[in-house]
Amino acid sequence: MKIHEFQAKALLAKYGVDVPKGGAVETKEAALDLAKELSAPIVVKCQIHAGGRGKGTLDVEYNGEPLHGVVLVDTPEEAAKVAGLMLGATLVTKQTGPDGKQVNRVLLEEGVKIARELYAGIVIDRAAERPVFMGCAEGGTSIEEIAAERPEAILKETMSPKRGLEGYQARRMAARLGMGGDLIRPAAKLITSLAKTFVDNDGSLAEINPLVVTEDGRVMALDAKFSFDDNALFRHQELLELRDITEEDPAEARAKEWDLSYVAMDGTIGCMVNGAGLAMATMDIIQYVSNHEVQPANFLDVGGAASAERVTEAMRIILSDDKVQTILVNIFGGIVKCDVIAEGIVTATKELGLDVPLVVRLEGTNVERGKEILSESGLNIITADGMKDAAEKAVAAAGQGGE
Ligand code: ADP
Ligand code: MG
Repeated sequence: MKIHEFQAKALLAKYGVDVPKGGAVETKEAALDLAKELSAPIVVKCQIHAGGRGKGTLDVEYNGEPLHGVVLVDTPEEAAKVAGLMLGATLVTKQTGPDGKQVNRVLLEEGVKIARELYAGIVIDRAAERPVFMGCAEGGTSIEEIAAERPEAILKETMSPKRGLEGYQARRMAARLGMGGDLIRPAAKLITSLAKTFVDNDGSLAEINPLVVTEDGRVMALDAKFSFDDNALFRHQELLELRDITEEDPAEARAKEWDLSYVAMDGTIGCMVNGAGLAMATMDIIQYVSNHEVQPANFLDVGGAASAERVTEAMRIILSDDKVQTILVNIFGGIVKCDVIAEGIVTATKELGLDVPLVVRLEGTNVERGKEILSESGLNIITADGMKDAAEKAVAAAGQGGE
């Protein structure tokens, strides 16, 4: 789960990270009230779940130029005007894709005088099975390029998943980032606090870019990005309140409501499978039999205990994706029975209508009855025996439906 910059800053501030004074608003009027409480200059920042806002542009103009996603202004009135233009507009950045994202909130905060911009982040290193703290003396907006061109410029400290970053590691990181003298204490404090926020809240990714040293010697987070491990959210009820469904892929959000594991992808074959292992094998075999010409449109695991309702919901989610040219249902009836699944498929198809070929492979408990239900339904369902047969039929059907 991702959160907004203003939420991440509030969370980090609770852990002692220094952030600029400010807050988020949803209307121009609220922006004016808030801006009057801040000392100028004021920075107005679009709040969307994507970075690159400073260089990104909105579909509105200000002073004859397209407005950027992060703007520095001198007066509260100007801040309110810019906020008013941003709210409801669409921001396109390197990370949003060409359609961009609608801005529903803006953050207003005090502008600080920057002496140095650095980078700090934490990701999970799967090979090390631990979080790794990353620092870079060159912060700002192009960290991905630096990582690709000069990986040695990214400094790393592997963290204990339980204890977080040790004091000596934080001080060593601060020193290697060139924060000696009076800066070592505040820098090590920020680094330690970021690591503690990450561990305490089961983070999956954190980024402060830029982390800045101000002209008056403060070490602050000017931007903040945070994601949490979905599987650990049950023990952080307070974080669940930060979820912004409007920022999520609608199909993925819907799937979450039904407890279905769904990830949208770019291919053309919609897959409905039970069990993550079988789902992955199904995705592999689609690519295998088509010589990598045809790709799955999604990963969808309806779970071991798939009920007719969940199958219907899964069909609805798959059908809402217009890239889907064929649906491949591959279900093993172990806990769930094949006849129940077959009924779910028939109900869903009748209810939703089906304008793409549907290939079904069932195996397991009550498979004969399941197949009967499918053939008695009178619906145009292609049945398959075994995974290879199913994948081949789905690929062939996608070919026919293509162009
Ligand atoms: P993004 O990464 O989405 O472009 P940032 O929050 O990093 O957005 O802002 C872009 C740039 O704007 C920063 O690199 C920094 O130079 C400047 N900036 C952001 N917030 C402030 C602030 N409070 N005071 C001064 N400059 C700021
Ligand atoms: Mg940034």
